[in-house]
Amino acid sequence: MSTHVVILGAGFGGLELATRLSDSASDEIRLTLIDRNDSFSFGFSKLDVLLGRKTISEVLLPYDEIEKDGVEFRRERVISIDPDTRRVATERASYDADVLVVALGADYDFAATPGFAEEGLEYYTLAGAERLRDVLTDFHSGKVLVGILGHPFKCPPAPFEGAFLLHDRFVERGIRDAVEIRVIGPQSAPVPVTKEVSRNFLDALAERGIEYVPNQHIVELDTNGKEARLEGGGTAPYDLFIGVPVHRVPEVVARSGLAPDGWVQVNPDNLATQFPDVYALGDVAALPGAKAGVFAENAARIVAENITARLRGSEPEHRYEHDGTCYIEFGAGRSPRSRRISSAARSRPRGSSDHLRSSQPTSWSSQRPDESAGSVRRGQRETAPERAVSLREVSPENDLLWRAPDRAASDRLSLLPSDCDAGR
Ligand SMILES: Cc1cc2nc3c(=O)[nH]c(=O)nc-3n(C[C@H](O)[C@H](O)[C@H](O)COP(=O)(O)OP(=O)(O)OC[C@H]3O[C@@H](n4cnc5c(N)ncnc54)[C@H](O)[C@@H]3O)c2cc1C
Repeated sequence: MSTHVVILGAGFGGLELATRLSDSASDEIRLTLIDRNDSFSFGFSKLDVLLGRKTISEVLLPYDEIEKDGVEFRRERVISIDPDTRRVATERASYDADVLVVALGADYDFAATPGFAEEGLEYYTLAGAERLRDVLTDFHSGKVLVGILGHPFKCPPAPFEGAFLLHDRFVERGIRDAVEIRVIGPQSAPVPVTKEVSRNFLDALAERGIEYVPNQHIVELDTNGKEARLEGGGTAPYDLFIGVPVHRVPEVVARSGLAPDGWVQVNPDNLATQFPDVYALGDVAALPGAKAGVFAENAARIVAENITARLRGSEPEHRYEHDGTCYIEFGAGRSPRSRRISSAARSRPRGSSDHLRSSQPTSWSSQRPDESAGSVRRGQRETAPERAVSLREVSPENDLLWRAPDRAASDRLSLLPSDCDAGR
């Protein structure tokens, strides 16, 4: 009888895991992939919506086009998880898993910052990005405050990218001199895990006349006085407040007992939880360093390897390393730059890291995202693995937003039918 693997969440991590297991063990495994939504979208596509480059419907990749051996997608909301019995209930059914993988991502806690739900704007959801896009058209002058409201949060560069892109937009509209932009956050530096990347951000912020205020925790928005209240007693005025909301595990995970300390504790080598045959990966997991799609995907690869090794009575070759490459959009006039972001103080994986790298199916190239997706659809994958680990600028003519998950996302398109034109 085949092993029933139930994957909760069809985001970066869940999709990557389903793809890997389908490719490597579809004869031995029955896969159920559950998500409350009917489509996937990339995190960075929220910036596309914010800037009016794309509409929401243009950035959605429908799950009903998933075609992968052994994968059954169920569009259902998970309402309970029992990690002891590996039983999962949704609004419509219940599932008993031999192996359970929790990849439900991070939710936002808007209420954690009083005033934010009433007056704050954001681009961390598609709906929020669309709303902010519309509000910006009527904004002509004043103080824009970009506030990072908690830590950890998804995609450490995203608040700064947002500030750079807003700067560009105001320049284009000829109102930059009438607008002050300030970024406030609780971290000591823009991307504390790497000094080099932080230095890049600080330089880019300074070049654009954007003020950065580190080590400040916004506790509340005073919507009458139009100021953000800081933990230390100070205030920061704004006309437009754009926040990165406080993040937390989804409610169903909090109720499951999997995350008594806030995030799901896992073995950092293989993403196993303390419950037998229950794994957690991606944003939901308590791991050091950034929450980002590229890390969720890397983690999914390790979980896939562990599950297949368990089935075959062998040992996994690799252990998880929390590092990856991110592409950062600095805005008009400058190319996205790749930067390797690593919080792994650990040295070597078990076995050969070359194998891990060369096994990344689509790897990296300076193609535009839509071209790369097209080539995957045609089964002609570009392979230039060394780029995955290099710190280099991508080609200057490529001024599109093009970052690591973009490329990894082309893998994901292999879940979709060959004639899918749903997006990049
Ligand atoms: C503006 C922005 C820009 C970003 N840019 C980048 C970038 O350039 N590079 C990068 O690597 N990362 C980026 N990210 C971060 C990236 O999107 C996340 O880190 C990534 O999505 C995490 O993957 P995951 O699989 O853990 O969770 P997710 O991708 O969030 O997937 C979780 C899934 O679980 C589902 N779910 C949740 N609760 C339930 C429930 N109760 N029942 C059923 N389904 C449920 C959700 O619908 C979702 O599909 C960005 C994020 C934002 C907001």
